[in-house]
Amino acid sequence: MVITMEPLPPLVAARLLGYKLGGNVIVRCRQGHVYSTIWIPGVKLKGLDLVVARFQYCPVGKHWSLVVPVREKDLTEGERQFARQHHDLPIP
Ligand SMILES: [Zn+2]
Repeated sequence: MVITMEPLPPLVAARLLGYKLGGNVIVRCRQGHVYSTIWIPGVKLKGLDLVVARFQYCPVGKHWSLVVPVREKDLTEGERQFARQHHDLPIP
């Protein structure tokens, strides 16, 4: 019997892993900066690609980088606060 992740919709798979995708999420860039971004899965990416990484602008280091979503429980309180205060889009 072959076990595959294929039948799981990506959003469900991500939720099972503990990620809160589908809105405001905290991500970490390759240089370790954390910030908030809007992560709407399933638009252009497919499969686990969207869970693993995305290439986008990091407003903390002011550079482009691969970013990955992080679980809030994996962050310290200080990191969570920092991430909420830094967003790649201006907050109205
Ligand atoms: Zn960065």
